[in-house]
Amino acid sequence: MSEKWESMAARELLAAAIAAFHPRIALSTAFGVEGVVIVDILMRIEPRARIFTVDTGRLPPETYALIDAVRARYGCTIDVFFPMAQAVEAMVGNHGVNLFYASVERRKQCCAVRKVEPLGRALAGLQAWITGLRRDQAVTRRDVAKVQVDRDHGGILKLNPLADWSTEDVWRYVRAHDVPYNALHDQGYPSIGCAPCTRAVRPGEDLRAGRWWWEAPESKECGLHLPTAREASS
Ligand code: SF4
Repeated sequence: MSEKWESMAARELLAAAIAAFHPRIALSTAFGVEGVVIVDILMRIEPRARIFTVDTGRLPPETYALIDAVRARYGCTIDVFFPMAQAVEAMVGNHGVNLFYASVERRKQCCAVRKVEPLGRALAGLQAWITGLRRDQAVTRRDVAKVQVDRDHGGILKLNPLADWSTEDVWRYVRAHDVPYNALHDQGYPSIGCAPCTRAVRPGEDLRAGRWWWEAPESKECGLHLPTAREASS
């Protein structure tokens, strides 16, 4: 079955997944360019397809503008999940508002509170979730399968329909379909996350070099996409 999924084009895979799982399937997007491409494909398949995002409270203004632009363009509902206020208050009270610069441990703590916990709530009750992960984004993503069993989230399926797309494939789709995208992409940001943890990349740098740029490439995941998820075998 995993080979069957691997051979499917993104639209074909998404159509099959929606037919099998809607409404217990949702796209998780931080509104990078891969996310909006999937929104566009999904809306052509099923206009009521579920979309959610995690608002960490530290997103750049360009991302909030894009969320509204996507809502207006497609007429879709976007569920927004926030971190637990008490957990943020305790963390910031103990370690400061910019604790992530202090160490990898503190950065992962912030991601756990602001991203991972809300994601867990967003995934509750779903049978499958969809992401915009691509293999050529980073060393941590080279083995991403199009369909994985996500044991970190109760064994639901994790679908990565753009896993084998190149950066050029993504932008070709955006231009062909006039998909709205984050204004930061035109300012040297190939990958966009929280404002204090993302910078523009320099020519020749890795696509995710601007994410947590003070850390080594091997540590650059926030806990949303741990490499422990296994390829589907059934
Ligand atoms: S990316 Fe930065 S600000 Fe956002 S949750 Fe992670 S450490 Fe916190």
